[in-house]
Amino acid sequence: MTTTFEALGVSSDLVRALEKRGITEPFEIQEASIPDGLAGLDICGKAKTGSGKTLAFGLPLLERVESADAHHPRALVLVPTRELANQVADELAPLAKVVGRRVMAVYGGVSMDPQIDALEDGVDIVVGTPGRLIDLIERRELSVSDIGVLVLDEADRMADMGFMPQVQKILRGIEAPHQTLLYSATLDRAVNQLVDRYMDDPIFHEIESAEVTVDAMEHLFLHVHQMDKVKVAAAISEASNRTLIFVRTKRGADRLVRQLQRDGVDAGAIHGDLRQAARERALSQFSSGKLPVLVATDVAARGIHIDVIDVVVHYDPAEDAKQYLHRSGRTARAGETGVAVTMALWDQENDVRFLQRRLGLSLPMVEIFSNDERLSDLHAWASSHREAVDA
Ligand code: ADP
Ligand code: MG
Repeated sequence: MTTTFEALGVSSDLVRALEKRGITEPFEIQEASIPDGLAGLDICGKAKTGSGKTLAFGLPLLERVESADAHHPRALVLVPTRELANQVADELAPLAKVVGRRVMAVYGGVSMDPQIDALEDGVDIVVGTPGRLIDLIERRELSVSDIGVLVLDEADRMADMGFMPQVQKILRGIEAPHQTLLYSATLDRAVNQLVDRYMDDPIFHEIESAEVTVDAMEHLFLHVHQMDKVKVAAAISEASNRTLIFVRTKRGADRLVRQLQRDGVDAGAIHGDLRQAARERALSQFSSGKLPVLVATDVAARGIHIDVIDVVVHYDPAEDAKQYLHRSGRTARAGETGVAVTMALWDQENDVRFLQRRLGLSLPMVEIFSNDERLSDLHAWASSHREAVDA
């Protein structure tokens, strides 16, 4: 028997509002942590990207948050990026309305005035990035003295991005007793430090991610030639709506973007050397469909949550099975079957064959040139290919 949000203790108004959005069955992390959240306990929740962490903290927060006075929000959600601030605020806003609460996203790079005006009117729940929150606190436009629920979302990314000093500064400012909900895809050292210092005997809910398996997608292994490699990638990109291409290095990412652009493919890069704003721009354009091709390094691609990626290209072959599945898993979301394409040069074939064995895949390496018709419908090719191999 699967449970319901109602059975977890979520009030019927919110349950109805969720139903309207087609959300009827709690995901694992929600089922595990919502009851404790509703009980007011500190929670440390770990679950992979896309597992529903926003509602896991959002629903208890909405049930428990009180109504704010001017400049004194009652709940604070700390997030690493402006994009995430908007995403979380957008997800919570319609539900907050149901319980008569107001949500606002605050982040830097935009004028502070509308944010200040809203705080003046009394925003109950503020979702924000650490830098802008500190600015508002220092200007005395935002006081944390009435915070009853504090959320740290994507705590691992905040640590990776160097926000820990700011986060800690904010946490130190909150003196009144409050509930702390920390959600993260990983709980490593920096995150554990926060847990030790700022949380009160938290309950841990860690959902081990059901590993992405090779069955979740189609696979193609192509033997390509150095001189033609960019053109093969371009042909694949042209035939697909959203293509995510993995390369090993930051310079490789920039170079490939330039080469693809030269071939008339509209591509953008995300990697660690780009400014946060540039990364987010590429990501949001890719996510909205304006940018059809994103070239990413493995580190930069962490935490990307985009629903319909048709094709993942291993432009530089994955170094091991874990990396292969992690990259390829980006295409296997939401029940859609995507295609993972590995491009191997002759001197990479042995490594790729070894990789296949580790994955339990046994597929031929097909020599291909960029003018091959089969590149124009990879999905059809990959599935017929597999059937032929299976038979
Ligand atoms: P995470 O923060 O863990 O990466 P999100 O909270 O962003 O994941 O959720 C991923 C997606 O799943 C969102 O589009 C969200 O609306 C949807 N979602 C969350 N919970 C449920 C559920 N119980 N049923 C169906 N969809 C859900
Ligand atoms: Mg999230």
